[in-house]
Amino acid sequence: MSPAIYLVKGREKSLRRKHPWVFSRGISKVEGEPELGETVDVFTNDGQWLAKAAYSPHSQIRARVWSFDKQAIDKTFFVKRIQDANLLRQDIIERDGLTGYRLIAAESDGLPGITIDKYQNFLVCQLLSAGADYNRQTLVEALREVFPECSIYERSDVAVRKKEGLEQTTGVLFGDEPPKSVVIEENGIKISVDIVGGHKTGFYLDQRDSRQQSMKYVKDKEVLNCFSYTGGFGLYALKGGAKRVINADVSQPALDTAKANAELNGFDISKKRGVFLNADVFKLLREYRDQGTKFDVVIMDPPKFADNKSQLIGACRGYKDINMLAMQILNPGGTLLTYSCSGLMDQVLFQKVIADAAVDANRQVKFVERFEQAADHPTDTAYPEGFYLKGFACKVL
Ligand code: SAH
Repeated sequence: MSPAIYLVKGREKSLRRKHPWVFSRGISKVEGEPELGETVDVFTNDGQWLAKAAYSPHSQIRARVWSFDKQAIDKTFFVKRIQDANLLRQDIIERDGLTGYRLIAAESDGLPGITIDKYQNFLVCQLLSAGADYNRQTLVEALREVFPECSIYERSDVAVRKKEGLEQTTGVLFGDEPPKSVVIEENGIKISVDIVGGHKTGFYLDQRDSRQQSMKYVKDKEVLNCFSYTGGFGLYALKGGAKRVINADVSQPALDTAKANAELNGFDISKKRGVFLNADVFKLLREYRDQGTKFDVVIMDPPKFADNKSQLIGACRGYKDINMLAMQILNPGGTLLTYSCSGLMDQVLFQKVIADAAVDANRQVKFVERFEQAADHPTDTAYPEGFYLKGFACKVL
């Protein structure tokens, strides 16, 4: 018999709605001695069977549900989830001509703690939870069955693993070591991805739809692309006919790749049409403001500012500050494209922060368009937390 957990009376409500988390305070009894990440049966207080879940003794999220059906959590289970996820994305892959996309978006694809990005023939996995880690080998076998042509690489070098009682780890799980550059394509743009050394799994696939939508604002414009990473928005701006694009980031390797990406696509970056600036955006924006340097379009795509609730107020201040500065360096009628990937900052709160920034910048600001994470990062109706990336196009008068 597999180990089991019993919930506190009434704590089954969220699971009945198919939300996949069981919090430590929701558990009344643990039966057997489940190992870190082992599969357990979940029961209501009075013994009704609810789900199969992965046990995580060190985390506040004490169990994550694999399945609400009575089935074994084995290779067959993983194969089915992977096939479902891949099928779900087929129309997007074709529509946008993708050779790089998010294959598995963790809870949103019914595989808690597992993120997998596909770059050409490389599958790059992040295993973020105890259950994901425990099933590593089975997952690899399932991936090999669905994608026999692919090599599999792990990038579990993420701090959240600590909460689950896991060490960080990276390396080849199957097949070849990824080369320094794997070139993917999205919307007709080529992008070089460094799977081993890049951020996260190598690239920010989640901003693809926003990058595409940004193109309509840039023709003949002076564009400042803040937090550019390997070019992302900047490449779309060059394709969209921007007069000039300044990409700013603190990572020199990212900027080098950004430049290489512009060249790879044959974009004209001569005569400073493409600039790749190693700078701290917070300082750079102040310098531009104090010098009176102006832009027609400012793109603001910072890293996550809030990992937990206690950081949210500080995060709001950070977002307000950079967006105020961006407004101040925009020409009248200019466009601010601004994003927040902090899940805790919801769309309503982010809109308020932008409103506060407008007050402080003393500019009239109109929201003209709203953005979300790309379509290969879906949100399951049972798991609203899966919606984390939002953005606005604002006209700044
Ligand atoms: N817009 C990008 C993704 C941005 S990720 C895309 O579409 O691909 C965030 C980036 O911010 C990272 O490249 C990181 O190096 C950079 N960064 C973090 N803090 C910074 C700072 N203070 N100034 C400039 N860049 C910073």
